[in-house]
Amino acid sequence: MKVPSVPLPEPDRPPEVPKTEEHRFPCDACGGDMRFDPGRDAMTCDHCGNVTALGAGDGGTIREIAIEKGLDAGGALEEETKVLDCPNCGAQVEFDPAIHAAECPFCATPVVTGTGTNRHIKPAAVVPFDLQEAAAHKAMDDWLGNLWFAPSGLQKYARKGQKMAGIYVPFWTFDADTESSYSGQRGDIYYETQTVMRDGKRTRVQVAKVRWTPRSGRVRRFFDDVVVLASTSLPKSHTDALEPWDLSALAPYAPQYLAGFRAEAYRVDLEAGLTEARARMDAVIARDVRMDIGGDQQRITRIDTRLSDVTFKHVLLPVWVAAYKYRGESYRFVVNGQTGRVQGERPYSKIKIALALLALLIVVGIAAALYGG
Ligand SMILES: [Zn+2]
Ligand SMILES: [Zn+2]
Repeated sequence: MKVPSVPLPEPDRPPEVPKTEEHRFPCDACGGDMRFDPGRDAMTCDHCGNVTALGAGDGGTIREIAIEKGLDAGGALEEETKVLDCPNCGAQVEFDPAIHAAECPFCATPVVTGTGTNRHIKPAAVVPFDLQEAAAHKAMDDWLGNLWFAPSGLQKYARKGQKMAGIYVPFWTFDADTESSYSGQRGDIYYETQTVMRDGKRTRVQVAKVRWTPRSGRVRRFFDDVVVLASTSLPKSHTDALEPWDLSALAPYAPQYLAGFRAEAYRVDLEAGLTEARARMDAVIARDVRMDIGGDQQRITRIDTRLSDVTFKHVLLPVWVAAYKYRGESYRFVVNGQTGRVQGERPYSKIKIALALLALLIVVGIAAALYGG
């Protein structure tokens, strides 16, 4: 994949950054920028070591919002943030005003913080980072170390100066009460004794048959926190592999949790998120209907579902991301910032694979010579 080149900022003209946002969380001891300290419920100053407890947990409750309010959008639900637009992969990331030029955390393309803004629904809750960067880095090293088919230079390359970016990735969660009426058929297996000719003899055999009877009824289910990814920057296979998330760790949104980290703006809007959540709910409801029909087999001819009390939350979940370029291609490695689960993609070494195949063929050849007679 060819990556467009982006001009770096001219060194003699620093990019303009609003003065008021330069130090959002200054340290009371030295004035430096404090950052959220994963796993500690505190903010830490890397300049002087000052630690300030956050006292999260007494920050109030997380509110579910009625879906109608969200779909109407606008007003008090929304906020505007400054974002960095990646010209290569399209990611929109809220930037730390202290950083003027950086690499896109998702594809390692150099980007300059612009004056772009993004208007969106405010996050309601966040699962704060629990895993320190060092632990995430170690997970990446271990993973790279186990890659037999990776090119030899890659591990050294990836380790050298590889920084991981802590990113809060956007998700939607939906709650809904559902009531579904259905009709279909229930199949019960029974056996019939038949007489057949076998080897010239009359033989009695049992033959399985299905008796179908019409069935209709109702099922109800309350869905709590159906989680839908609202980012398009990371492949869905990557974020799916990071599951499960422990949403009991959700804390009411506070900007302190984002200090020193980045938050990605959602690209899947609320309506599209709801459509995906509906599809997942429908699959669960179909399973409920099959259970309700009972018997050995089921046929469903119709399900009508009524949703009520649909609510949503926009939540941010913590992911450590390392993006690196190797021979012109972008590769990513992600770590769940809550549990430490890892997922990545990497180049394969054609030579190593060819050698392994050759070795396998030799072994097969020897075995054939020994046992083939
Ligand atoms: Zn300090
Ligand atoms: Zn990018």
